[in-house]
Amino acid sequence: MPSESAVEAEGLVKTYKEKVALDGVDLAVPSGTVHGLLGPNGAGKTTAVRILATLTIPDGGRARVAGHDVVSQPRQVRRSIGLTGQQTAVDDLMTARQNLTMFGRLFRLPKAQARRRAEELLELFSLEEAADRSPKKFSGGMRRRLDLAASMILAPQVLFLDEPTTGLDPAGRREVWEAVENLAAQGTTVLLTTHYLDEADKLCDRISVIDHGRNFVEDTPAGLKRRIGEERLEVVAADPAELNRLAELVGRVAGVEVSADASASRVSVPVPDGVAALTMAAAEIRTQGLEIADIGLRRPTLDEAFLHLTGAGRAAAPQAGEQ
Ligand code: ATP
Repeated sequence: MPSESAVEAEGLVKTYKEKVALDGVDLAVPSGTVHGLLGPNGAGKTTAVRILATLTIPDGGRARVAGHDVVSQPRQVRRSIGLTGQQTAVDDLMTARQNLTMFGRLFRLPKAQARRRAEELLELFSLEEAADRSPKKFSGGMRRRLDLAASMILAPQVLFLDEPTTGLDPAGRREVWEAVENLAAQGTTVLLTTHYLDEADKLCDRISVIDHGRNFVEDTPAGLKRRIGEERLEVVAADPAELNRLAELVGRVAGVEVSADASASRVSVPVPDGVAALTMAAAEIRTQGLEIADIGLRRPTLDEAFLHLTGAGRAAAPQAGEQ
């Protein structure tokens, strides 16, 4: 079990002229975990990562990465972190192996050690077969994996990943996810900024949702989904004219008032015991002779949780730390 925080921030504040980018952000990422930083555009995610990576100095608050203070010990912090994003740092005129060896040399590894590290990283990121080719001919996923490999030359304790799969096709995204999972399995702490909720869902142990430069909610992916409610029973009417009757019936079974979604001929209602509600509703529908096109149970997606938490549901959402 991870015991201590690899990334800790308390009350981070950053203002650009009039614009408050961060307004007191806290973060605690246990060693060896993957932590997601999510939020709408302009929420302050990049600013937070830039402060943690020592690229920007905060106006207020404190932060430690791998045990070092980001303001007073920037060199130690830089030695402990890797930073990678959408912009590629690799050189198309060299092969993948030459690129990694060159990065090792740039990080002042002796020649033999740089070569050894390049081989290890080619293996870790499943790039052995492509080692002698130029990244110019790589797929998007391979290229991103080579970038990841380059940021892991010194085996940093903490890796900042800024939207690592933006612009990749589904196969490329899966390749990068696998690479991140491998890194996490080896004990690297990862702070992942992403707009893709399925990515956060798949990779993260915990997720911090940031909005307007403040912590909004922090939870596990499953916990975030739970916050917007339990399972839903959904029934689709075969005949739109019967939708109101169907809504009345489903509402009676679930014990709540239901409003139907006329555009989709659908009735959707939260139910604490999904299987019981489904069985009862199906029996009742048959008894009443109603025709339906579909009936089923559905859990909220992380997208719905996120929209709910940062959008319309804000007033009702529990605050960070509450369960
Ligand atoms: P996105 O998801 O769009 O990348 P973000 O959550 O990373 O957004 P930041 O880039 O941290 O958000 O920006 C937070 C706020 O601070 C935004 O309103 C942005 O316009 C502002 N901001 C960020 N950097 C600067 C800068 N160098 N000068 C002025 N304003 C800035």
